[in-house]
Amino acid sequence: MFYLSFLLYPSAFQTVLSQVVELIENKQNFAITTHVRPDGDGIGSSLGLCWLLRSLGKSAEVIVRDGIPAAYAQLPGADEIKQIAEVNGKYDAIFVIECSDLARPGIKGLENQFTVNIDHHATSEHFGTINWIDQTASAVGEMIYNLCKAIGGRITREIAECVYLALVTDTGSFHFPNTTDRTLKVASELVKVGVKPAQISEVVYNSYPWSRIELMRQVLATVQRNESGTIAWMRQTLEMAESSEAVDGDNNGFVNIPLAAKEVEAVVYMREVQPNAYRVSLRSKGCINVARVAEKFGGGGHKNAAGCRVEGDWDLREKEIIAALTEAVEKAHDGAEK
Ligand code: 5GP
Ligand code: MN
Repeated sequence: MFYLSFLLYPSAFQTVLSQVVELIENKQNFAITTHVRPDGDGIGSSLGLCWLLRSLGKSAEVIVRDGIPAAYAQLPGADEIKQIAEVNGKYDAIFVIECSDLARPGIKGLENQFTVNIDHHATSEHFGTINWIDQTASAVGEMIYNLCKAIGGRITREIAECVYLALVTDTGSFHFPNTTDRTLKVASELVKVGVKPAQISEVVYNSYPWSRIELMRQVLATVQRNESGTIAWMRQTLEMAESSEAVDGDNNGFVNIPLAAKEVEAVVYMREVQPNAYRVSLRSKGCINVARVAEKFGGGGHKNAAGCRVEGDWDLREKEIIAALTEAVEKAHDGAEK
């Protein structure tokens, strides 16, 4: 049975959403996974969906490769998340949350399963048996809320808390450009069923170990900017992670810090993950498209938040990325990007 909110959902996505609803109604055993080094949207959406499936009398579990950041371990159901390297269960379907391709979860054996790709990134490959990609959603959490409404489920306290955390983290507490009236409406509904925004904010922002502060001190000591001050870049070495005794998630949001300066329009944050291998995070303001920049280096993401992985000489790669970013900033200034 479909509800009014389903009819209000953009029609372009209704057919595929109906397929997801039908699958859930007709099957029983589900697993949910998300990308390696899961973030708030990955974990919040996965757990939210897990609680939704369980509330419908289904069997569901969340399976991920990596440990989850300590803060998110406070979410309901987080203690039941299974950390695995290979799928060994027999499932009717596996929901793959926020992954550009089937390698992103880092779990072996997914290719032999019935998969449902749920994502809000433009760069997603349609790897799933069903592919529900909604680029208008601020977070996958928003899509899980829509799914709950479409299937006629009740937004329980557990679903609400998990989905709210997904929204808060992916919208930077509702201040990134992906925040829409729909995001705020969903957030409002979640608060109505019992979410305490201040409590979730404590979980998201004030639950880190001291190692985060130590790591932040070291990373910020490396920040540099171009002559016009529009582009800033900084680095995190393996030695910094080690000496600060950093744990997963300690560097969450570091990349946004330089954007606090009015004139800074784009940021590059390079993190050494192995000798000669680096994770790159890109952020921008306004119409500067960093997804295009990340794609040039084999990555992807959103217009204002993207990433990739590069290898080789650090100085050289950094120069190349800054050059591509400079081009993107100039393009935006020329009005070529809207
Ligand atoms: P972050 O900087 O937080 O790691 O990533 C920012 C955004 O870029 C996220 O939405 C993420 O999905 C995307 N992203 C980061 N790294 C990669 C990558 O290697 N490949 C793709 N396709 N997207 C990425
Ligand atoms: Mn997301």
